[in-house]
Amino acid sequence: MSAANRRLGALREPCRAADGRKLVFLFADDAREQADHTRLLESFGYAVRVSKNPGSVSGGVLDFQPAALVINNRQQRYIDENLAALRRLYDSGRLTCPAIFVGDRDDMRLRLAAVRGGCGAFLDHPADPMALVEAVDGLSAMASEDPLRVLIIDDSRVSARFHSDILARSGIATRIVTAPMEVAGPLKDFQPELILMDLVMPDCSGQELAGVIRQEEAYDSVPIVFLSGEGDKDRQLSALGQGGDVFLTKPIEPSHLVLSVTIRANRFRGLRALIERDGLTGLYNHSATKAHIVALLERGAANGENLTLAILDLDHFKKINDDHGHAVGDMVIKSIARLLRQQLRRTDIIGRIGGEEFAAVLPGLAAPEAHGLIDRVRLAFCDIRHRAATGPFSASFSAGLADIAKHHTPNDLNNAADSALYSAKGAGRNQVTLA
Ligand code: GH3
Ligand code: MG
Ligand code: MG
Repeated sequence: MSAANRRLGALREPCRAADGRKLVFLFADDAREQADHTRLLESFGYAVRVSKNPGSVSGGVLDFQPAALVINNRQQRYIDENLAALRRLYDSGRLTCPAIFVGDRDDMRLRLAAVRGGCGAFLDHPADPMALVEAVDGLSAMASEDPLRVLIIDDSRVSARFHSDILARSGIATRIVTAPMEVAGPLKDFQPELILMDLVMPDCSGQELAGVIRQEEAYDSVPIVFLSGEGDKDRQLSALGQGGDVFLTKPIEPSHLVLSVTIRANRFRGLRALIERDGLTGLYNHSATKAHIVALLERGAANGENLTLAILDLDHFKKINDDHGHAVGDMVIKSIARLLRQQLRRTDIIGRIGGEEFAAVLPGLAAPEAHGLIDRVRLAFCDIRHRAATGPFSASFSAGLADIAKHHTPNDLNNAADSALYSAKGAGRNQVTLA
């Protein structure tokens, strides 16, 4: 396996501290900054290791397999030393976690050096606390959580399987379609982040199929990669005319396939996140959540599966802002988002649908069953000690639940969950109420 391939493959492995918390390794020359960053990251549930020596990236790092590295060096010799060591670790394939560099944004040479070292993000010094947490959250999630989804369209099952196996070995999720005319279902269910497509197929060519896919707004920017034996450059270029992004020739070196696919799918995921996700929490925003509710409700109606919508609203949040300031309020919002992610299932959809209002869409559960789940989240949330200048404090939320067995349209479902939430507020808050 090539170094590039090994690195991309290993990127998918979860990196956690022994107690289950994700680990961040921090390098800083300034003791105060080191303490500030440590406190901040710990309050967001990371375990933080600081290096005794502000240089020496290579030293302890590998023993801990952190989820992210933060390099906040100010002295040139430490910067040089750490970036050079980082590059070596990445090249050797032994280090797979992302690195975040904090420095002067206007210093073009420094930014170039950070890119050469392999840093995935660059934050302006002094690092804005929320930006730092978001960078660590974002990059480490990208590195270890949801696998990329690639749809393979190829009339030859053998060829499709061959490429699917290569991608799967690097932790990429694949779905195979061998009948091009039947692509609509898998596109909708699987929501690929890249389509790998054969060019010569019966019924319709890859080029034509790309044209059809591009006519649907939902898929007009999904990267389409042609993979074909076609060696003629002119014909390759004309195939791209219908909306394909790039042409790869069979047979392909596995590491080239993995890299080509990973780079484009990751970029697509990043662009999609800007549109679909809320910047503060990384949860789905209001309109993306609504779209998911509609799609899941349709699916539930089609296969007779129940689905619960939970709407959560933080209690007396205005007072939290008034007492502790808006930045602390933001931390509380981030902590409920994080908790929902931790405690709900992978198949659940979690959205931030208002300032301090959240939706959880729980497929397969009737509202009374979902009650237990959301109530456990409520109790766990009450247990969190949030940090403020005046000392720790706790917060709570109220929630309303409704399911599609009783409420059949997205509107009904939403109104029912909303009025259940209203009842929970009326009954004294900090509780979960069924519609
Ligand atoms: P209730 O228990 O009835 O829900 O009371 P509440 O104070 O939580 O409800 P209200 O809707 O009156 O206030 C919500 C507050 O949330 C008002 C707004 O300033 C604050 N808020 C909304 N979005 C954000 C945000 O992104 N960050 C912060 N810090 N505060 C926000
Ligand atoms: Mg509220
Ligand atoms: Mg509210």
